[in-house]
Amino acid sequence: MTAARSLTTVAEFFEAGLVAEEKRAEARAVAEGYTVAITPSLAALIDRDDPLDPIARQFVPDAAELVTLPEERADPIGDLAHSPVEGIVHRYPDRVLLKAVHVCPVYCRFCFRREMVGPEGLGTLSPAALDAAIAYIAERPEIWEVILTGGDPLVLSPRRLHAIMERLAEIPHVKIVRFHTRVPAVDPARVDAALIAALKASGKTTYVALHANHPREFTTDARAAIARIVDAGLVMISQTVLLKGVNDDAAVLAELMRTFVENRVKPYYLHHPDLAPGTSHFRLTLAEGRALVESLRGRVSGLCQPSYILDIPGGHGKVRADSRAVEEADDGCFRVRDFRGETHLYSPEEGGA
Ligand SMILES: *Cc1c(COP(=O)(O)O)cnc(C)c1O
Ligand code: SF4
Repeated sequence: MTAARSLTTVAEFFEAGLVAEEKRAEARAVAEGYTVAITPSLAALIDRDDPLDPIARQFVPDAAELVTLPEERADPIGDLAHSPVEGIVHRYPDRVLLKAVHVCPVYCRFCFRREMVGPEGLGTLSPAALDAAIAYIAERPEIWEVILTGGDPLVLSPRRLHAIMERLAEIPHVKIVRFHTRVPAVDPARVDAALIAALKASGKTTYVALHANHPREFTTDARAAIARIVDAGLVMISQTVLLKGVNDDAAVLAELMRTFVENRVKPYYLHHPDLAPGTSHFRLTLAEGRALVESLRGRVSGLCQPSYILDIPGGHGKVRADSRAVEEADDGCFRVRDFRGETHLYSPEEGGA
């Protein structure tokens, strides 16, 4: 299977029938601010006649992205506040993010790192920066897990991934390596034997967290790619962003979680949408999110229940969005208690709603 090229400009989206003539200028304005790209396999999934297509909504640039609200931030989850060396985010004692690459196979219109990802962003870590990042991990015995994210680490060549895994294999206190990726669903042909072999290292346990938001993303090819990963002995978990117009529906969410489980991917996190710039059209309220999560309880198997997560703006970490750590305060604000026990105000709509 030769992989066809991704669409990476508004002109290509237009030629593929994904952007209408009258929306072209707006889409171009969006693309000036935020990278656009979609893989051929996803483009083929989009129903051109459905203005509400949930795949199109995730990847086709939309004029609504030109609206940035005052509460939206370039760094919505505070990565920068916890980056001791380039490429590392160390927020929790026992695990770090290792961002080796800032490129993705597709660019999600709701991305929480949209100001940092893309070919014009930070690119791939230089060899010297990677050395420094690895040294940071090696010097800290409390780091039990390394989470490769980005960007999408599975866009790296098997050779580069293998090189990183070899370096991690030399660090005895690192037991778990986790990859966060969209590749198995959006570019399944990439998941070949060489790539899968590159994700393994002797003495380490590899987890692959698959980001998918709608059951239609599980094409026949995507299911086969997931099966190759699981058959190779890697553990898969899921990651989904709760998105208005994509999966903010009890039946869609239930089907999505079941589809993960049917494909041997254990539902892990359902993220409340972050306050990323130009993404207000995707956001639902915490009350709406809680009602949706509630609707899964009992209705679908316990295997299909993800944790509903809010990433506290400012870099204070994640909390269960349906727990008592998130309590309604005044004016539509919430009082959120982080994992250290400190309280923060979360105001998803500045000035209340
Ligand atoms: C989300 C995140 C993690 C991983 O958190 P888990 O709850 O273990 O999935 C680790 N570090 C940072 C900085 C994060 O944002
Ligand atoms: S794949 Fe992840 S990092 Fe890349 S654009 Fe989508 S959400 Fe952002």
